[in-house]
Amino acid sequence: PTLLAIESSCDDTSAAVIRGGKVLANIVATQEVHKQYGGVVPELASRAHQQNIIPVVTQALLTAKITKKELDAVAFTRGPGLLGALLVGCSFAKAFALGLQIPLIEVNHMQAHILAHFIDEPKPAFPFLCLTVSGGHTQIVLVKDYLNMQILGQTTDDAVGEAFDKSAKLVGLDYPGGPLLDQLAATGNPDRFTFPIVSMPGYDYSFSGIKTAVLYFLRDNKTQNPNFIAENLPDICASIQNALIQTLLKKLKLAAKETGIREIAIAGGVSANSGLRRAMQEGATRYNWNVYIPDFQYCTDNAAMIAMVAHYKFLQGDFANQYVSPDPRYKV
Ligand code: ATP
Ligand code: FE
Repeated sequence: PTLLAIESSCDDTSAAVIRGGKVLANIVATQEVHKQYGGVVPELASRAHQQNIIPVVTQALLTAKITKKELDAVAFTRGPGLLGALLVGCSFAKAFALGLQIPLIEVNHMQAHILAHFIDEPKPAFPFLCLTVSGGHTQIVLVKDYLNMQILGQTTDDAVGEAFDKSAKLVGLDYPGGPLLDQLAATGNPDRFTFPIVSMPGYDYSFSGIKTAVLYFLRDNKTQNPNFIAENLPDICASIQNALIQTLLKKLKLAAKETGIREIAIAGGVSANSGLRRAMQEGATRYNWNVYIPDFQYCTDNAAMIAMVAHYKFLQGDFANQYVSPDPRYKV
């Protein structure tokens, strides 16, 4: 099938066209308006989606060299995400489907992050474990089939992406600080400072403690030396990043051991983190894992991954009707 997919769950407006599971276009407009506020402002996100959606869809169709008449269905992100942001993509897709008299497909954003692994080779074999790490989620998912997934463990408070962004903010970096902290960590010593690795029962996570630990650590050191951050920035970043990665890896290793699964994938925005990517490669050598890491462009939010889920839903004839509405807390 030839499909158009739309992603508008947070602060990226994206449209993709795929044909037979091959991505022909994947256009992403990242909203710059939130930077000055140090975080995503939901109302501004919805407005920016409204402004971006038509140009982004037009560009995707142009790039793919596909006309509207050639489309077999239109897909959109139903959730999880910000209600007002999701509404834009959902309403647009409904109108588009109605106007062209083609089926509508609703997609779960977290499933889409995982199916980003089926865009390019190499593809994981079922069943595999996926560590989904993003701005709003931290999950270990047992992926049994394209559309059959079970969450084994997840964060009980903050997501790891949030922990990256909040820690980055505390050391004075711009929003979103995750990628900046990653860059600075590259030249730092990860063993210089110690931050807590919180252990939760089973495969669950907790990341709210680390930002408090970072806050007190910086406060205590700044009273002794006002220039503490400036003089030690790479080491601080590398040490924070190390604690976050070790926390992630601990439960992933446990899940791999207890399920006996060696097909291991990572997905979501934080899978762009170079330290985590390196740690996964080490896991491959040490534990004999087959590790799958998505291409950078498919780690953070994009419509190509939404289109991938839509492709498999189309094959199953799993369509939505015009009464479908966004679900901000949509579960996998
Ligand atoms: P969700 O998918 O849970 O709804 P989201 O869509 O907002 O949340 P993504 O776009 O998947 O999240 O990921 C964004 C997050 O990834 C941000 O927290 C960002 O800081 C983080 N991130 C991106 N690149 C890196 C990096 N190199 N190192 C660490 N964190 C990163
Ligand atoms: Fe996301």
